[in-house]
Amino acid sequence: MSAAKTAKRKVKSKAAYKEPGLLKRLAAGPVICAEGYVFELERRGYLQAGAFVPTVLTDHPEVVEQLHMDFVHAGSDVTQALTYYVHREKLRVIGREKDLVPMNRIALNIAKKVARKTHTLFAGDICNTNIYDPADRKSSAAVERIFAEQVGWAADAGVDYIVAETFSWGAEAVLALQAIKKHSKVPAVVTFSIHREEQTREGWTAAETCKRLEEAGADVVGLNCHRGPQTMWPLLQQIRDAVKCEVAALPVPYRTTTEQPSFMSLTDPCCDNARAFPVGLDPFVCTRAEIGEFGRKAFELGVKYLGVCCGAGPHHIRALAEGLGRHPEASKYTADMSKHAFFGTDSKIKAVQTEYRAKL
Ligand SMILES: [Zn+2]
Repeated sequence: MSAAKTAKRKVKSKAAYKEPGLLKRLAAGPVICAEGYVFELERRGYLQAGAFVPTVLTDHPEVVEQLHMDFVHAGSDVTQALTYYVHREKLRVIGREKDLVPMNRIALNIAKKVARKTHTLFAGDICNTNIYDPADRKSSAAVERIFAEQVGWAADAGVDYIVAETFSWGAEAVLALQAIKKHSKVPAVVTFSIHREEQTREGWTAAETCKRLEEAGADVVGLNCHRGPQTMWPLLQQIRDAVKCEVAALPVPYRTTTEQPSFMSLTDPCCDNARAFPVGLDPFVCTRAEIGEFGRKAFELGVKYLGVCCGAGPHHIRALAEGLGRHPEASKYTADMSKHAFFGTDSKIKAVQTEYRAKL
């Protein structure tokens, strides 16, 4: 075949390339979704802790794009639009409701650009509204409006699927799912959060909530945020036993305990037992090995939609990917101590250094 013909065929096959969807990918193996963008942008100095609204979308969109690229480089299979907390209620709280539409569009455009460039899945995102109140009927209408408009913008942008996340109320998660089904045609991943109490705020167990979501048509159900790997684990086992659909687990990378099972409940003994959330959590961060081990164990359990939420850095995502036997681009730089100045085992390392090791 002539060179020109080969080139022509290449172009044609590229044009016909269709990204396998989320459900196909899950049928074939684990899917890694990096989350926790808001926390990472706060650490990088582009977002204010407290309201946690990603105003970085208008201030420094290039930083958001780079963050997405960093997570893909580290092994994320998904580029999720940074529309977490870019809803009507949060923007009202910070007095920027007029920026609702442009901020959502910017977030979706950035994520789409990165997803298409890197052949990752392009996900939309809706989240806890903070106004849902089962005692107030009017609140449900306001919540439904928030979900409907954000799902609509995500669908317009051509997302591959939509994530609904971080709900404390099981019923609010159900409303989010209903909005995805009503206002889009894409798969729904619905994850919620369990605080100190082992149940949602209305008293549903995690397993029961997942069953309700599965029955209401969710494609993937599970937990995200608030709990670290240790205290999310027992709930995941119950969820995996309770549902037939795919299960998601995206813990925070913090060492939560039986006594303090959520990252909001952690107190720091080195600081008069002050509450560590949100900007004093550094001493509790999980090591890469802990995250890698969590991913491996969760996959063995049958949990295939895996990620890390608030507090995750690209190093955690790489560890998660490697725990699943993957070798993302960033693995080129995974630690290799063989050439370390003191701890190295390589023959080029001088004895004058290695013999001093015990005194380091
Ligand atoms: Zn989170």
